[in-house]
Amino acid sequence: MRIRKLRLSGFKSFVEPAELIIERGLTGIVGPNGCGKSNLLEAIRWVMGEGSPKSLRGGGMEDVIFAGTATRPARDFAEVTIFTERPDATADEDREVEVTRRIERGAGSAYRMNGRDVRAKDVGLMFADAATGAHSPALVSQGRIAAVIAAKPHERRQMLEEAAGIAGLHVRRKDAEQKLRATETNLARLDEILSDME
Ligand code: ATP
Repeated sequence: MRIRKLRLSGFKSFVEPAELIIERGLTGIVGPNGCGKSNLLEAIRWVMGEGSPKSLRGGGMEDVIFAGTATRPARDFAEVTIFTERPDATADEDREVEVTRRIERGAGSAYRMNGRDVRAKDVGLMFADAATGAHSPALVSQGRIAAVIAAKPHERRQMLEEAAGIAGLHVRRKDAEQKLRATETNLARLDEILSDME
């Protein structure tokens, strides 16, 4: 999956709407200390479904909303849109996928995919199937290389599975197992009812 463009508004230090075109190949972000390099990477991980405020250097998820400065008031919402391209898309799948995540103070966050409201889980599965996502090793933030070197074997395995695009299969397997268990319980209940009737 290729990221073509990123649009942010009210996300951390990006208070004004900003749009970044991401060219093909490896992209590096450079700039003076505190200019918002890490915030950009965090915006990509956030729109891909990052659920841990701590890994976005915040205490709560609303900390991603512009908190105001001495001269500018805080914002009530943050919104990030990522424009992606799936080179492997089949004819009936969308080749261009546009995902938006928006958070409002006191109202939590919501996702849209190509203009339709979707669940966080749908977004997570779409990115996992495309071998990317909020924890993709393709997004190299500060300290990430040291973390990969120090990772435990099962953490390395997770990274490899994400890179291979099979992380979504685990989620689907868990769902299927839950449905199977619920069906087995229903069948057992049905057997009891039938034997009571005999
Ligand atoms: P460095 O090179 O030092 O790692 P950086 O370019 O990666 O810096 P970031 O860490 O992305 O910079 O940005 C830090 C800036 O973002 C700080 O000025 C901080 O005040 C600002 N910032 C973070 N969260 C918010 C927020 N919710 N509202 C307003 N500003 C924020």
